[in-house]
Amino acid sequence: MHYNSVVEFERLQNSPSYQALLEEKLNRDRQKELEEKQIHEAREREWLRAEKEAQKVFLELQQKLALAKEERARQNEKIRLEWEEEQKRREELRQQKENELQEQLRQQELSKAKVEDFIEYGGDTPDHLKTTLETNPNKPPCPFFSKTATCRFFDVCSRNHVRPGISKILLIPNFFSHYSLEKTESDRFADAGLEFERHEIKTCYDEFFYDVVPELETFGELGLFVTCCNKESHLRGNVFIEFHSTQAALKCYRGLNGRWYAGRQISVQFVNIPSWNSAVCGVHFSNRCPKGSSCNFLHTFRNPGNSFSVYNKMKKDTEQRQRNHLESRNWRWSESPETSPKEDDWEVDAPRSSRSRVKNGSKRKRRSHSRESERRSRSSRHKKDERRKRKRRDT
Ligand SMILES: [Zn+2]
Ligand SMILES: [Zn+2]
Repeated sequence: MHYNSVVEFERLQNSPSYQALLEEKLNRDRQKELEEKQIHEAREREWLRAEKEAQKVFLELQQKLALAKEERARQNEKIRLEWEEEQKRREELRQQKENELQEQLRQQELSKAKVEDFIEYGGDTPDHLKTTLETNPNKPPCPFFSKTATCRFFDVCSRNHVRPGISKILLIPNFFSHYSLEKTESDRFADAGLEFERHEIKTCYDEFFYDVVPELETFGELGLFVTCCNKESHLRGNVFIEFHSTQAALKCYRGLNGRWYAGRQISVQFVNIPSWNSAVCGVHFSNRCPKGSSCNFLHTFRNPGNSFSVYNKMKKDTEQRQRNHLESRNWRWSESPETSPKEDDWEVDAPRSSRSRVKNGSKRKRRSHSRESERRSRSSRHKKDERRKRKRRDT
């Protein structure tokens, strides 16, 4: 049986159909192997391509990163340079300001030294003080400020206020204070103790005068001491001080500005009063000022003993003006020259009003007036004669 099986097996093995089957299987295996090899190679190629692609992308990315890094570095460098430039500019600016400040301080020191020299030894007024300060240089001058160095609108006035850098006259605003100066007109009428109040304010003013004037005299020779009794806030208690020299005024300014008096800090200003006659209300002392306490011209206290009185000064100025006026006339007929008013014609209480002076001068004035008109008519007659003569000569 076993032998038969082996023989059968060999017979089957050697049979052509088996051999053909074997051959077919071998071919199939070879084909499969080839296909597998081709697939593997294709995969290999695909992988290589993908790898190459990836390498390319990676390289591009690397390049981009490198470029970005470079750009960032460039930007940082630019910012650094700009910052350095800015720092340099700031430093230069700081240095420039520092230099300017130093120069300013040097100039200030120089000016201060010049002022000290001027106060100590006199001589020419330092140049830097010969300036004027203007509030509205392009506007017309304020008529009140030009006359009284004060204005109800203070420095917000729409007109121009011109202040000198230095002068002989100083103004200390609201220096003298008294409760009655703060009162309104209606308060005054309601107050029964008017006479007492008048006496009280006079006593108070005299005390103020005797307290302040000796101090002012330590700075130099005092010319005028004028205190306003107006109630308007821009004039109330204002004190004008005129010295004989700008040197003394400057000394006083240096000594008083910023000092304290009666619990208040005082400020001193250089002012220009072209004419006291134009600044002081001419009818206040005769109690005939129609504007009363709201008058914009100076209503002043009478100084004890008329010392440093503005009225004496105004009187002298008026007399001088009259003298100049007379001297400037060229009368042909001069046998009766006009005379200036006599001493007793002048009332300190009514200094400037021409009306009151004519009244006070009464007969003498009227006489003088008639003499003057006579002289005028004579003069005009004389001129007519002259003209007639000339006409005749010409023909
Ligand atoms: Zn004004
Ligand atoms: Zn007045």
